[in-house]
Amino acid sequence: MSAATSNMADAAGVPIMLTELRLPTIKRLWTDLAEQSNREGWPAERFLGALLGHEIAERETRRLIRARADSQLPLGKHLAQFDFSVVSTISKAHVIALAEADSWLTQGHNLLAFGPPGVGKTHLVAGLGHALIDRGHRVLFMRTSEMVQRLQAARRDLRLPAELNKLDRFDLLILDDLSYARRDQAETSVLFELIAERYERKSIAITANAPFSAWDEVFPDKAMTVAAVDRLVHHATILEMNVESYRRRAALPARPRGAAKTK
Ligand code: ADP
Ligand code: MG
Repeated sequence: MSAATSNMADAAGVPIMLTELRLPTIKRLWTDLAEQSNREGWPAERFLGALLGHEIAERETRRLIRARADSQLPLGKHLAQFDFSVVSTISKAHVIALAEADSWLTQGHNLLAFGPPGVGKTHLVAGLGHALIDRGHRVLFMRTSEMVQRLQAARRDLRLPAELNKLDRFDLLILDDLSYARRDQAETSVLFELIAERYERKSIAITANAPFSAWDEVFPDKAMTVAAVDRLVHHATILEMNVESYRRRAALPARPRGAAKTK
């Protein structure tokens, strides 16, 4: 190696310029790939292509791992594990289309999944969340009660706008289990502010046991209920899952095909 070249390279033979950039994969693979390239007489494009290809692939893997950890999505609840055949009220094609389309997220449209306990609302919405992360979107999954607590704490510390702003980096916010325990005014108003803040900009997915008729009990103030529901449904996909509980179905012994229901 000439003196001039060695001046521009560190101990591993990586050009100094590259070691200053954050290119950990290139740094790690440089020597081996350069040796292989010299040995096998690769054209320059092939060497450069291989090096950059590895860097980009590992960067994408790291991004996915980080996004999935940040999302707090329940592990293992993917669409691939969801049996659509037991939920006759929703179409698999429709859900797959939501998982593969970006336009509803870029337009801040919402998703509402209704149904009694155990029908797979959380699993389905979490599965969508995982699929959207794979497509490069940012998703945050949280129980609604936990989100309300977080926002209330922020309001107490006079940093509610900052907290709402922080949630803006998520393209989709999943609020799981909007429950009907009557809440006090302060609790519900932070939820309303979240909904109003994201309206027509960033998407929200909500799972709930009952559709809107019962939401008066979520927002004690009638005007606030109307305003919240209005914003949520203005651009929304509604998945009605009024089927038998998957948990209960799984707990029962299998009925022979075509057998009549026991009375
Ligand atoms: P919900 O949120 O409606 O109360 P969950 O999504 O928590 O229901 O579902 C209850 C359990 O049953 C979970 O373990 C979930 O993975 C499973 N489950 C529900 N529906 C399905 C389905 N269609 N296919 C596979 N697993 C399901
Ligand atoms: Mg649930």
